Amino acid sequence: MPSRDIAIIGAGPAGLIAAERLAQAGHRVTIHERMPSPARKFLLAGRGGLNLTHSEPLDAFLGRYGAARDWLEPAIRAFPPQELRDWADGLGAETFVGSSGRVFPKAMKASPLLRAWVGRLGGMGVRLETGRLWTGWAPDGALTFTGRDGGILTTTPDATLLALGGASWSRLGSDGGWVPLLAGRGIGLAPLRPANAGFAVSWSPQLRERFAGAPLKRIVIRFEGQEVAGEAMLDLAGIEGGAVYALSGPLREAIERVGYADITIDLRPDLDPARLAEKLGKRRKGETLSNHLRKAGGLSPAAVAVLRDSAGATLDEAPQALAAAIKSAPLRLLGQMPIARAISTAGGILASEIGADFMLKRLPGVFVAGEMLDWEAPTGGYLLQGCFATGVAAAAGIHSWLDRNG
Ligand SMILES: Cc1cc2nc3c(=O)[nH]c(=O)nc-3n(C[C@H](O)[C@H](O)[C@H](O)COP(=O)(O)OP(=O)(O)OC[C@H]3O[C@@H](n4cnc5c(N)ncnc54)[C@H](O)[C@@H]3O)c2cc1C
Repeated sequence: MPSRDIAIIGAGPAGLIAAERLAQAGHRVTIHERMPSPARKFLLAGRGGLNLTHSEPLDAFLGRYGAARDWLEPAIRAFPPQELRDWADGLGAETFVGSSGRVFPKAMKASPLLRAWVGRLGGMGVRLETGRLWTGWAPDGALTFTGRDGGILTTTPDATLLALGGASWSRLGSDGGWVPLLAGRGIGLAPLRPANAGFAVSWSPQLRERFAGAPLKRIVIRFEGQEVAGEAMLDLAGIEGGAVYALSGPLREAIERVGYADITIDLRPDLDPARLAEKLGKRRKGETLSNHLRKAGGLSPAAVAVLRDSAGATLDEAPQALAAAIKSAPLRLLGQMPIARAISTAGGILASEIGADFMLKRLPGVFVAGEMLDWEAPTGGYLLQGCFATGVAAAAGIHSWLDRNG
């Protein structure tokens, strides 16, 4: 096939991996990015170690995408976790599997990998135009941009990939500004909402003052028959962290429905109630309840504070009652933290708007990939894997569409 001009808008992981695949296939690729440098959210993800993907069996892995599994599965099977690891290794960012099964580069950051990647793309002839804000289409179908100096630029590629991300952490570049542009072309969208975000809790002033920023380690959170083991972090305004994020879909839906969500926290999931009550039966004379909970109950000061907050004035100090409260501390979540502070975004372009090749049915020649599509997944590497896999799938879609359309 002769080489074709392809415009990729958005230099996040989805756009960059598509650029790599298309350049490999011999196309002339230009990436248009609004920010002064690429992949800022990817770099931020690197601050948490860059959890690239997960090592669990593929069937369990695919289950993490919930309702979106059906249509994401072919893309993830075509670019599975091991292939993402091999790709990172190929860029000198060798990966390892952490104790939780999560996969990280050994450097535990994104910058060396990104530097090598951008270098590789440059070597392949991919052009990266930064400071270019995509603003839609001109009446003749050309893509329109606002340049660094405020001037208007246009281009008419043979195919376009939109990889504009979601709307969390908008100061890094992805702000959902594409929503009205696509809605205006009749594309069906689910509203963008925070995913993997914390929830508001009305903590007591004492807890806020002393324990904001403290972790709750090795807990289990239960909600409507589901339970998640992991960690959470207390925050001035509420609670966040992996165990909370993993339930964020059902919690958000409950809050949208009735205004709140009541969870319970098992602060000692490793002990059954009888064993815990036995330990709590041995209280030294004159010992304060907090000390007793820490020493006999094995609770951290933050866990004691949560227990006291959740029980209010009603905390019964009898060993069995205390054990029951520790195993099932109730907490009312009153709302979700704003999208600006979410790890990822739920909602976006509906799956019914795209074909198996990730082309928009209403806009032939325009493909989409990454977080701007309507899927969500918990933290654990599923987000980046989904972005990489859809980027690869959209690149394959573009290549075969160009092939078919001369
Ligand atoms: C704090 C934090 C930690 C995270 N950690 C992890 C993790 O460890 N593991 C994991 O799997 N995921 C993690 N994520 C999520 C992951 O980073 C994102 O899911 C992923 O970056 C999305 O990739 P994307 O390519 O779809 O979009 P993005 O990375 O958001 O890239 C989209 C790009 O498009 C550009 N753009 C947007 N609009 C325009 C426009 N109009 N014109 C031109 N350019 C535009 C943006 O500037 C941006 O560069 C984390 C996210 C956050 C916020």
